[in-house]
Amino acid sequence: MSGAATNRPPSLDKLLASTAMQVLVEQAGRTATTAAARAELDAWRAAAHARAAGDGGSAAPALPFDLGHFEARCAERLARDAAPALRPVFNLTGTVLHTNLGRAVMAPEAIEAVTTVMRGASNLEFDLVSGARGDRDEHLEGLLRELTGAEAATVVNNNAAAVLLVLAALAERKEVPVSRGELIEIGGAFRIPDIMRRANVRLVEVGTTNRTHLRDFEAAIGPKTALVMKVHTSNYVVQGFTASVPPAELASLCHARGLPFVEDLGAGTLVDLTRWGLPPEPTPAQSIAAGVDVVSFSGDKLLGGPQAGLIVGRKDLIAKIRKCPLKRALRLDKMTIAALEATLKLYRDPDRLAQRLPTLRVLARSAAEIADQAERLRPLVQQALGERVNVQALRCRSQIGSGSLPVDRLDSVCLALGAPAGTRRTGRLPEQLAAAMRALPVPVIGRIEDGMLRLDLRGLDGAEAERGFVEQLRTLRLD
Ligand SMILES: *Cc1c(COP(=O)(O)O)cnc(C)c1O
Repeated sequence: MSGAATNRPPSLDKLLASTAMQVLVEQAGRTATTAAARAELDAWRAAAHARAAGDGGSAAPALPFDLGHFEARCAERLARDAAPALRPVFNLTGTVLHTNLGRAVMAPEAIEAVTTVMRGASNLEFDLVSGARGDRDEHLEGLLRELTGAEAATVVNNNAAAVLLVLAALAERKEVPVSRGELIEIGGAFRIPDIMRRANVRLVEVGTTNRTHLRDFEAAIGPKTALVMKVHTSNYVVQGFTASVPPAELASLCHARGLPFVEDLGAGTLVDLTRWGLPPEPTPAQSIAAGVDVVSFSGDKLLGGPQAGLIVGRKDLIAKIRKCPLKRALRLDKMTIAALEATLKLYRDPDRLAQRLPTLRVLARSAAEIADQAERLRPLVQQALGERVNVQALRCRSQIGSGSLPVDRLDSVCLALGAPAGTRRTGRLPEQLAAAMRALPVPVIGRIEDGMLRLDLRGLDGAEAERGFVEQLRTLRLD
């Protein structure tokens, strides 16, 4: 019966009884296969109906029903439905920590730790020595103290949550002075003034956009002040005629007035990045040493771990933060705790960090190494794409991303895909190429610039990734 084309489809029951459909039932289950068959049958009926109606009843032949075709369509539909919605992609955008593409890539140690803790019960909140209830923060607190020099630490879902929690726990219904130069908006509608309102804290704006002095803070502090907050201007710079108060001076002022000094550090790398030729970025350890009482930072930015908000600082203040009811609502899951612990442990051996932590490895790749890779890949990509596209290796500048070091760029090399020289400029070619790249089994995400699709090879890290990228290009369909 397979392959036979008739003008009327058999009943659903008959269809499901065919050998090919029975194989699908075996693989995907009866419910899903029946649903797929029904949907394909409906699609055939709609097409048959459209054809009959379309020509006003003239000589158009009726749409034949082809069983083999139907079975293949059902198999395709089931495969499509079974594929995960969240899929791996190649991030060749040139933005290493791309929020829309999932930010940091985990180290093998973190992946291993997560899968282990997922498989069964764990001592998440259980003290194995006393047999009593434990605290989930304990798995990370020692490490965070060691790596930042802080007295205590706690962790929540992301840094936005950390800022909200710190404010709600330490400043509810009170005033918090912040420099006007630091009233930031981070992508995804995180704005300091809004967060303050949500935390039921009154923002007191201090100084001006470009210049804020210690005397401005002195004047802003009053009987209702709960703490002073400093916010890292992650995604922009204030340049030119500017002044801001060094953290150590602000810390002295706060402490003289008996107030905590809090800092939202944003990206928060734990090590000096200049060692790998990267631009400097402040560390939580520096903030703590300068006298900051509570510092918060992200887990999945420069730190290279899972999404998390890390809060380190004075013991009494961290205890207050832990007791805030919001902490329970924002607490970390065991998988994140496992990944974070494994990631933080890599920092105990800074000498090997750039080999073991993918984010740092990608950021630290030299332009010369990427240029070699481009030379290797250019002919292969040119061959896969054919004559309609010209593939060049061009110098470019990668960025770190996620509001880390907004103006610093890293020298890199991209494959630039455009119209061949001498041909009429085909206006839509870059968009067509971008769409074809996104349609690959592992979608390739680049960026369009100067009429070309640019694939920054900094993000193509390692021989395995390179092989996977090249092999699937054969299936690229440009139409
Ligand atoms: C990125 C950032 C945040 C938000 O951190 P998430 O971990 O993305 O929630 C908050 N403040 C600053 C200064 C940042 O750079």
